[in-house]
Amino acid sequence: MKTTLKIEITIKAICEGFVYNELEGKGLFGLSGKLTIQPEYQRNYIYSSDGGKKEVAVIESILKGYPIGLIYFNKVDDDGLEVLDGQQRITSIGRFVTDKFAIKDENGNPQNFSGMAKDKQDKILITTLLIYECEGKESEIKEWFKTINIAGVPLNNQELLNAVYSGPFVTLGKEEFSNSQNANIQKWGAYVAGSVNRQDFLERALDWVSKGNVGDYMSRHRFDKNVAELKRYFGSVVDWVSSVFIDVESEMRGLEWGRLYEQYHKKAYDPVKVTGEVRKLYGDPYVKNRKGIFEYILGGSTDTKLLDVRIFDEATKRSIYSTQTAKAEKKGQSNCSNCVIGHDANKCKIWSFGEMEADHVSAWSKGGKTTAKNCEMLCKTHNRAKGNR
Ligand SMILES: [Zn+2]
Repeated sequence: MKTTLKIEITIKAICEGFVYNELEGKGLFGLSGKLTIQPEYQRNYIYSSDGGKKEVAVIESILKGYPIGLIYFNKVDDDGLEVLDGQQRITSIGRFVTDKFAIKDENGNPQNFSGMAKDKQDKILITTLLIYECEGKESEIKEWFKTINIAGVPLNNQELLNAVYSGPFVTLGKEEFSNSQNANIQKWGAYVAGSVNRQDFLERALDWVSKGNVGDYMSRHRFDKNVAELKRYFGSVVDWVSSVFIDVESEMRGLEWGRLYEQYHKKAYDPVKVTGEVRKLYGDPYVKNRKGIFEYILGGSTDTKLLDVRIFDEATKRSIYSTQTAKAEKKGQSNCSNCVIGHDANKCKIWSFGEMEADHVSAWSKGGKTTAKNCEMLCKTHNRAKGNR
């Protein structure tokens, strides 16, 4: 790969013909059309999120004469360049010069580019940027792109995969799942965590359809001219969840719905009954893990481990242990009530505190409370054999 340092390119030249696409959230062209600011394998523009602090910082740095760092262009052909690294910074500059956002002046008032004094405007426009122009094979450039993290926000896993497997499939996938203008995003956001711009929705859709093998799937479908399967599968999962669970709860966000769909979508559920059960568990003070409620219900309401039901505290267990043991010693039998009715040598065994576990006499799932009154110590073997606590 060949690189040449360019030091004479001004902001004015870069911003010549700058176009920002509001719908797709990206800067498109500069240098009078010669420069493609956001090639398809680049991430969306994210400097405007967080209240735009980052894009304001870029402009303030330029006004103060601070360097804004190296920028890398890829020479595509004699007449074409694309931004390899620096897309966020260039888009910030282009957006400012075209009045898409304002900075604060000395008095703290908002000021956009066209409202600035001429000398300040010129200061920005004649600023030159440090640009490396790279020339090389596509594979070299992509490999290198994968390893650079020069910009302030490192690429995340899905952004890297989008770069590595760039092509029609990624482009179409991003159009559907990385587009904040997509009207479905709000509905999907009830079940998928993360941000559209950072590719979290696309990642989830790929993760679900590929059963966790995102890279493989992207490689196999790289040159597909449609994303029908991806859309269909994602839609099936979301439709299934929303038909089984009518109420949308905040704990549903980010659960492994793809796995749960695979495991349970062929089972029939009565949504009304399910809703009642969800509400009851939400109101149960003993349920510590609300995120587990949905899988618990899907699995037939037996695996209480998923709910992390509040357990007996140490003091309760110790006090029950000593009462139970004192009684047992008096009678000359085991302090585990299940051992007493057994037929082996343990009939009379006095277990130590550490060899026993607390059990709900009346099971929690059948309404038993986690209180001393409902607590019994059993030897570990018998407690574990009881299972559903
Ligand atoms: Zn026992």
